[in-house]
Amino acid sequence: MKIAVYTYRSTESMRVRQAILDGIQGTPLEYDEDHPDIVITIGGDGTLLSAFHRYQHLLDQVRFVGIHTGHLGFYTDWRNYEVQELLKSLQNDSGQSVAYPLLDMEATMSDGRVKHIVALNESTLRNIVKTMVCDVYVNDQLFERFRGDGLCISTPTGSTAYNKSAGGAIMDPNIIGFQLAEMASLNNRVFRTLGSPVIFGTDAKLTFRLRDDSSAVLTCDREQMMLGQDDWHLQEITYRVAKEKIHFAKYRHNNFFMRVKNSFIGETY
Ligand code: NAP
Repeated sequence: MKIAVYTYRSTESMRVRQAILDGIQGTPLEYDEDHPDIVITIGGDGTLLSAFHRYQHLLDQVRFVGIHTGHLGFYTDWRNYEVQELLKSLQNDSGQSVAYPLLDMEATMSDGRVKHIVALNESTLRNIVKTMVCDVYVNDQLFERFRGDGLCISTPTGSTAYNKSAGGAIMDPNIIGFQLAEMASLNNRVFRTLGSPVIFGTDAKLTFRLRDDSSAVLTCDREQMMLGQDDWHLQEITYRVAKEKIHFAKYRHNNFFMRVKNSFIGETY
């Protein structure tokens, strides 16, 4: 089995990386950065996000394993002191995995250029200077005219990230769908939006058309794109559940809702 190690550049992450590289010597595990079967990330959820985009072209072949060197992450199950146990699991690997849905984003520019990205956490469309005015279509029918700071469209596993800060719900990652959350919407007698997060199912298509794209920012996980300049004028963006999924190597049971509790609630008294 071929493994790649994707590392956040901290001293502790580099130490763990070296322990893995030393540990695979003399085993059937082989290091292959370009065509791995397993990608081990060392760092936090942000590191796994970056690794996801580095290996996005291999999503149907690759399984991810996250080792966290800081606080407990949502994509990172293993602790930095569990390297030997992980190496044993890798050597006994029988292909066990768990798959989670992703978000497909397609942004069409007014000159016809198309930017297509698959997101692991979310995509956001925001205006950093003035009120964003955006027509929101659900399955090609006008749903609302949004006015406010922006909109966040997240995957089930991304629901604990930006989506949660925007007041979205936590989604069980076994649900196949995506979520729309508003960011500081304007709601008064004149302007009206739904005012609550919406969870869409497998076949839904969400389309955004901005009334004015100057000073708008489109993000996809860690990537950002300034709109309304350098000929990047947005015609529309569509979101769907992606055809691809992310696969994690599942060597032991991990409980998503205990992770939610540990991250956001802590001890219950
Ligand atoms: P980053 O430093 O990589 O991430 C910001 C924080 O979000 C970190 O603490 C990270 O955890 C955590 N995080 C990432 N994915 C998560 C998930 N699925 N569930 C729970 N927490 C998660 O920041 P970045 O490079 O700017 O952007 C990466 C992500 O940060 C975005 O995808 C977005 O979700 C999030 N973000 C959140 C806000 C907000 O909540 N207001 C604003 C901007 C961006 P680690 O420390 O383990 O890496």
